[in-house]
Amino acid sequence: MNFAEIKGKLNTQETKQLVDSILNVGDRATFVIDRGTFEVLYLNEKASELFGDKVDAYCYELICDNENACIDCPMAQITDKTIVRNRHSRALDAIGKWQYSVIRWFDNREAVLVTLLDVAVVFGDKEDSQIGRKERIAREGQFDALTGIPNYSKFCANTENAIRYNPDKEYAIITFDIDKFKSVNDLYGMSVGDMILKHIANALRGYFPYDENYARLHSDVFAFFMSYTKRGEIIRAIEKVRRAIVASDIRVDISTTFGIYLVKDRHVPINLMCDRAKMAAATIKNNVMKFCAFYDEQYRDDMIKVSEIEREMKRALHNHEFKMYLQPKYSLKDNSMCGAEVLSRWMHPEKGLIPPMDFIPLFERNGFIMKLDEYMWEQACKTIRGWIDAGIKPIPLSVNISRYHIQHNDLPSIFNRLLKQYKLSSDMLTLEITESMFMNSPAKLADVLNTLRERGFKLEVDDFGAGFSSLSLIRDISVDTIKIDKNFLDQEIASDKGKIVVSHTISMAKDLNLQVVAEGVETGEHVEFLKNSNCDIAQGYYFARPMPVEEFNQMVAKKI
Ligand code: C2E
Ligand code: CA
Ligand code: CA
Repeated sequence: MNFAEIKGKLNTQETKQLVDSILNVGDRATFVIDRGTFEVLYLNEKASELFGDKVDAYCYELICDNENACIDCPMAQITDKTIVRNRHSRALDAIGKWQYSVIRWFDNREAVLVTLLDVAVVFGDKEDSQIGRKERIAREGQFDALTGIPNYSKFCANTENAIRYNPDKEYAIITFDIDKFKSVNDLYGMSVGDMILKHIANALRGYFPYDENYARLHSDVFAFFMSYTKRGEIIRAIEKVRRAIVASDIRVDISTTFGIYLVKDRHVPINLMCDRAKMAAATIKNNVMKFCAFYDEQYRDDMIKVSEIEREMKRALHNHEFKMYLQPKYSLKDNSMCGAEVLSRWMHPEKGLIPPMDFIPLFERNGFIMKLDEYMWEQACKTIRGWIDAGIKPIPLSVNISRYHIQHNDLPSIFNRLLKQYKLSSDMLTLEITESMFMNSPAKLADVLNTLRERGFKLEVDDFGAGFSSLSLIRDISVDTIKIDKNFLDQEIASDKGKIVVSHTISMAKDLNLQVVAEGVETGEHVEFLKNSNCDIAQGYYFARPMPVEEFNQMVAKKI
């Protein structure tokens, strides 16, 4: 803009009107500043409303509240291009987004047109007195009331702008939250919780003094975005933010987990990008060895699968889509069938057969395992009753018990009811338990299991050898049988050392008067070795795969 050209063509009044008509457009605070002396040559209505109409002032006094020219004044950096800088204005007590362009003023001197594009962060309580109502209203809905940093919607808008206007840069969105923040609130009170949130907001402000690339998304979830060329830069930024967060006077350990989403497809909505970063963080929750994780497309597929299963599970149970499969167990003494394990399969109307590993772990997390197991236990009882009624010698069935039941269910009364309803004796059911059941409330578990054993149910320790506590488990609870884990057998038996481990496990069990089952028996060599080691029972593909009841019945009928 060259105002010098107009000089002489208009009188003073006309000049003022012209300048006002140009520089009052858009309701933004605008100054014209002498580039050499920092003298304010002109300020529009908005600027005088916000900063006070001090004639003959210097910009460093008016805007920055300094007595002398600022050493880092952006006006020194402008060439002929317009630049935009985020800069803290002490007069506003806020970070403003300022635009600077060189112009020629009426008297031909070089001046800078300085425009406040946006007010970013407001600290303290100067807000009311110094900033107009309009700005305040504009900022409401964009800034988080507690911490004063941008909120979710402002973050989305800022990120979107950065990504859109910098197509040549790579961006990452990073979200993080405080581990066990709820317990912090419960333990120390809400005010300490608030203090921590404010402290984190300040840490972000301190780390990004000139950018508005961070936000509190909600509750204890914060985010920032950054451009990067190498992934290492992101990790380094995270480490620095973490360090800034840890360095606090608050006497509470603040530990944080970060999720990183690398923006590949720029059309994905920002809120979805944030969700994905959060998803990545969720994968390492409770893992003390990790504090950050990158989002992987696989997570999304997994999450979709999980939500589909959760949507369908109740219908599936109601429609009898879960089928009971039976896998026979054989006595190694005389190769006779001495029992069978109940295993479930999901016959999905569209997806076909779904193996238990795809739904059991999820049901164990969401509690639906209780419903499914009770259903399978009932199927087992019904089947045994069917055999008895048909005059067939009943085969004892083993059912799997999940950890969840111990905490949430009255197992003895459930099994009592089933036995009564199907008129069965308790020795027809073996209960397979795993050591993972002992992780919580071992005393309660011991109580429940002892009651069940007193009532005549057989207890079998499943996956024996897979964990570390198998031995202490059989020390603390009276059980009848151990079932050596199939992986253990498979890997170990190939080596001489492994054979020694397995055969010694068997002889130790025998010394304790326990019966031994081996699962995952796949080859004649396995059978030979197990027989020589004095193992009692074998289960595995070598003998038979798990099969539907009808097939199982046909197999039994053939043998009779
Ligand atoms: P598990 O209790 O250890 O069951 C044995 C698993 O080994 C079964 O897998 C069985 O099909 C498989 N298997 C049997 N013989 C062989 C063999 O020779 N080689 C190999 N490699 N594998 C063999 P499945 O049926 O896929 O079940 C997986 C797990 O899911 C089970 O492991 C059990 O923990 C759980 N599960 C299955 N059905 C139910 C159920 O109805 N309720 C509960 N709570 N858990 C269940
Ligand atoms: Ca089992
Ligand atoms: Ca097992």
